[in-house]
Parts: sequence; C-alpha cells; structure tokens
Amino acid sequence: MSDLSARLAAVDAAIADAARAGGRDPSELTRIVVTKFHPPELVRALHGLGVADVGENRQQELTAKIAEVGDLPGLRWHFIGQAQRNKARALRQAASHVPLTVHSVDRDRLADALHSAADDGDPTLDVLIQVNLTDDPGRGGVLPDGVEALATHVLGLPSLRLRGVMAVAPLGEPAAPAFERLRSCADVVRALDPGADWISAGMTADFAEAIAVGATHLRIGTAITGPRPTGG
Ligand SMILES: *Cc1c(COP(=O)(O)O)cnc(C)c1O
Repeated sequence: MSDLSARLAAVDAAIADAARAGGRDPSELTRIVVTKFHPPELVRALHGLGVADVGENRQQELTAKIAEVGDLPGLRWHFIGQAQRNKARALRQAASHVPLTVHSVDRDRLADALHSAADDGDPTLDVLIQVNLTDDPGRGGVLPDGVEALATHVLGLPSLRLRGVMAVAPLGEPAAPAFERLRSCADVVRALDPGADWISAGMTADFAEAIAVGATHLRIGTAITGPRPTGG
C-alpha cells in the first residue's frame, strides 16, 4: 500500500470510529480531501483511490486544476477559501464544468455577485454560509448573530442553493465549544430551510470534535496528503 492510501485508510478508520462513538453511521459523513498547494497529479491519485470530494482554497488554483483533471468522473469539488466578489464569475465558470460547492459565502454582496455571475443555463450553485467562530470580526465568515439574515438573503437568490453552514475552529481555544456554536447556527439555517442541513467542519486537528457535534462534511488535508509543498 502506498503512503497515500495508508494515510487515507487510517483517517477513514478514525472518522468511522468517531462517528460510531457519537451514535452516527459513518456513511452519513462526506470526507473532503483538501488538495490545496499540491499538484493536480495528487487529485488524480486520490481519485484512483476512490476519493470523490476534493477541496481547494484559491480560485486560480481551483480553476487551473479543473483544467487539468476536471474530467475525472464523479469527482466533486469544494471551494473552501475566502472568496472576493471579483472571483465570482470564475467560480461560476468552474461550476459549469464540474460539480462545485462554495463553502465560504459570508456576506450579502458576495452572494449577490455569485448569483449575478450566472449565465443562462448554468446549473444552480451549491453554497454554504461560512460562520466566524472567533471574536475578531475581521476573520472570514459572518458572525453568528448575522447568520439568519444572510441565510434569508441567500434563499432569495434563485441561482444559488443553500446547503448549510461551514466554519474553521478558532486557534487557541478548544474546538468542541466553538463547534457547538456552529451547531446552533446550523439549527437556525435549517429552521429556514430544512434541506440546508450540511455542517462543514473538522480538519486534521479536530475532525473528531466536529463529528461529535454533527458535522456532515469534513475537510481534511495534511493527515491524508502529508505536508503541503509550499506551506499554508
Ligand atoms: C487547509 C484547510 C483545511 C485542511 O487543513 P488540514 O489541517 O491540513 O487538515 C480545511 N479547511 C480549510 C478552510 C482550509 O483552508
């Protein structure tokens, strides 16, 4: 077994353990492998191992990788980085070639830009609301008290499909209580739209805590890919 397949198997076993410990069925969980900074060949190798979901955090890198390996059958792409409004058109273009979910919608104007960048006949774009779990309003994500208004706004944009919420655990604080706050935000969103039931949370360091509070989509990089080539 290659190192990559061994690490993938070990992470999947740990995910399954954490799911069962919480009384959940591991098949409810989607494991996204974060491939940022790695070459497209890694995406191809992961696909060969059965990986169906990959995550990228820069639009240009996402677009470049889709040009290289966007034809891999069944592969779903996840944009997990900060999105500027001027990237909206490129993200929509990517989504017209491959299944793509944008995890980082954190303000009305970004949602509006993603909506108005749709061309006739474009598929509906799946989006999540990114929640800022820190005390610093400058960090990515909408603060928890703004989630309901933003979700309501997104639900009014017909070319977007709201799927749920996403967050990164704050540094310097245990992840579990932060993920509890995300869970409350997820409940607010689900009350507005019962179908918007995804919770994208959990990285290499904290996926077990995320599973414990109900995460549905895990974003795991280094534990599977090994260290990133150029940091980040
Ligand atoms: C890089 C990244 C991850 C994966 O981080 P690891 O610690 O390598 O698992 C998950 N989510 C986001 C938003 C990221 O930028």
